[in-house]
Amino acid sequence: RKELLKVEGLKQYFPIKGGMLGRTINHVKAVDDISFEVYEGETVSIVGESGCGKSTTGRAILRLEEPTEGSVKFNDIELTTLSKGKMRKQRKDLQIIFQDPYASINPRQTVSDILNEAMTIQNSVPAKKRRQRIIELLETVGLNEYQADRYPHEFSGGQRQRIGIARALAVDPKLIICDEAVSALDVSIQAQVLNLLEELQKEFNLTYLFISHDLGVVRHISDRVIVMYLGKIVEIGDKLSIFENPKHPYTKALLSAIPVPDPTHIKTHIALRGDVPSPIDPPEGCRFHTRCPFAQDICSKEEPVLKPHQAMVEGHKAACHFVEDIESGKLQPKDYGV
Ligand code: SF4
Ligand code: MG
Repeated sequence: RKELLKVEGLKQYFPIKGGMLGRTINHVKAVDDISFEVYEGETVSIVGESGCGKSTTGRAILRLEEPTEGSVKFNDIELTTLSKGKMRKQRKDLQIIFQDPYASINPRQTVSDILNEAMTIQNSVPAKKRRQRIIELLETVGLNEYQADRYPHEFSGGQRQRIGIARALAVDPKLIICDEAVSALDVSIQAQVLNLLEELQKEFNLTYLFISHDLGVVRHISDRVIVMYLGKIVEIGDKLSIFENPKHPYTKALLSAIPVPDPTHIKTHIALRGDVPSPIDPPEGCRFHTRCPFAQDICSKEEPVLKPHQAMVEGHKAACHFVEDIESGKLQPKDYGV
């Protein structure tokens, strides 16, 4: 398989200014040293609670926010050091779809204007052929020619997301980052848009980085899953490993919180207690230790490494000191009476 995207040691710190001089007094460590790969044609999801750094990761890859540190390679090209102009050209291959396409669509433009503009910026289609291409794009996403001259507000949420997808497709991208792309839609519409994304993936050999807090959606669409907590990757693996055989207590807790058809296959049910700590001064050691029912002394001192453990299939990794002891039952969860 071809490695399309390679993220290494990515950090995104946002300065906090304070005092009379407005100096930087601290940082929000939104993304704190994460590494992963995305292979051509696959869907990798990033999942986690709000504030875990998943959207920030997507934005840093595209340099919508300049990353603080680390490397992002796309097709072996280092993106973080490209000039602004070269990055703009590269953006043709990397598109992003947001939760609310309306927010990034000019309400005074017709659908045709919106698609035309996308093609003009990237100069991807000669002017003479654009109308034909617009019709093609609309049909590709399940809309039609007659909708080309309408305005975004005339469409439903699901249709607007289809317009957002058409706009991304207008430049023939290779990778699409979907940031909560179906989160605002009703469940039945969600399924339609997810199915559309899957069809398009096959047809155009697209690769998706799918950012979502919704485990049901992630389960539907992913090949592999990355679980993030407070700016770190705590577990990564193929979909089956993550959903059927989670190893990190945080992943187990996330899965315990959703209704599953067969709850018996999840051996340990873990309730998440307390709130996510602040990413300004994240807990030392394992960032999850303030909420983890298995936490031991070492957990607040030493940061666990993301790595494979016993009986984990290839590519499945977790960042926890006690994967084996939790698995064997040697370590039992503390009961917090929740
Ligand atoms: Fe829990 Fe410790 Fe594992 Fe962190 S390292 S998840 S605190 S047991
Ligand atoms: Mg987000």
